[in-house]
Amino acid sequence: MVNQQMAALGSSRSTIRELFEYGNSRAAVVGRENVFDFSLGNPSVPAPDAVRQAIMQEAAGDPVALHGYTSAQGAADVRQALAADLNARFGTDYTGDSLYLTAGAAAALSCAFNALACPGDEFIVFAPYFPEYKMFIESGAGAKCVVVPPSAADLQIDFDALAQALNERTKAVVVNSPNNPSGVVYSEQTLDRLTALLRERAQAYGHPIYLISDEPYREIVYEGAQVPFLPCRYADTVVCYSYSKSLSLPGERIGYVLVPPQAADSAALYAAVCGAGRALGYVCAPSLFQRVAARCVGVSGDVAAYQANRDLLYDGLTAMGYRCVKPQGAFYLFPQTLEADDRAFCARAKGYDLLVVPGADFRMPGHMRISYCVATDTIRRALPLFEQLARDYGVIS
Ligand code: PLP
Repeated sequence: MVNQQMAALGSSRSTIRELFEYGNSRAAVVGRENVFDFSLGNPSVPAPDAVRQAIMQEAAGDPVALHGYTSAQGAADVRQALAADLNARFGTDYTGDSLYLTAGAAAALSCAFNALACPGDEFIVFAPYFPEYKMFIESGAGAKCVVVPPSAADLQIDFDALAQALNERTKAVVVNSPNNPSGVVYSEQTLDRLTALLRERAQAYGHPIYLISDEPYREIVYEGAQVPFLPCRYADTVVCYSYSKSLSLPGERIGYVLVPPQAADSAALYAAVCGAGRALGYVCAPSLFQRVAARCVGVSGDVAAYQANRDLLYDGLTAMGYRCVKPQGAFYLFPQTLEADDRAFCARAKGYDLLVVPGADFRMPGHMRISYCVATDTIRRALPLFEQLARDYGVIS
């Protein structure tokens, strides 16, 4: 008898993956250029040149070291270089001993949740949210995932709903800004209210409430939008970072957990993150790409290309009558669907070979996620199809 929960997880693909696979099979029938696949968050801009140069420089070095195990936390000089970069950018005082390198943000989050979760603990996430959170928290760490809806008008935090959800069992609150799937960046005001409320409740409950800041899209922001560095505002913050999006390296699996020394029980928490990584069998983050990340501090991909896509898609869709909060970051648009049943809407869009993901998958029905990390020409050619859909629904004549 196998573990039924794991078998169920393994045999049910997410809607996003289903759509992606469907897109591939459909492309074989109608041609790749006639399938408008907006399903996956796979970066469309190439990794910066600095990445290729770093790979070549590393490849020219000692081949044994290049492919060998590193320390479980990551190579000491790499962690030191990444800490120095954070210090230069955010005025912090970290050493490499605050960092634990991981196989991307997914592993970073799993380590953070497992490190913190004790029996009966709850973790709060804000809808709409990256669907894997619930799996990492409940199936992975054995804790409870509590979902708080956003304020409908701007997809920032609904503080009344958050105030109700917080209780003595709350171990941590997960923040993802810029957000997948909405592209929304939390405002200064939102973060001030959030940190004030968490401080007040932590004091009332007599234990820390951690913030887990999941920030793989930190550098993908438009028009100078600011993404405040949360550890500087709230000491009990754990950062989960990834190079999947900023350096366009999702398949290479590299990221980190940052446990700032200012966080409550930081030494024990850092040890627990290392322990979680060990228990989960991560051993160490990919060795070559640890070194590439260290060589590429300060480098990021072509954000202007994503912004051009956002502008084209956002302006085009809103002119047709689609309603959408204007995203300030990441590479997703999250418009309302033209009927309340988002799954029915997305199925209808599929009839036009427009592959978009129902908002219900992100616990926010009545919306669709459009990943615009695609060629700009794909968006240009998809717009008339979105227009046809709007016509079908009588939004335009
Ligand atoms: N968190 C969010 C919000 C994401 O969108 C993703 C990936 O799309 C991840 C975490 C996982 O990223 P990684 O590829 O680094 O594991």
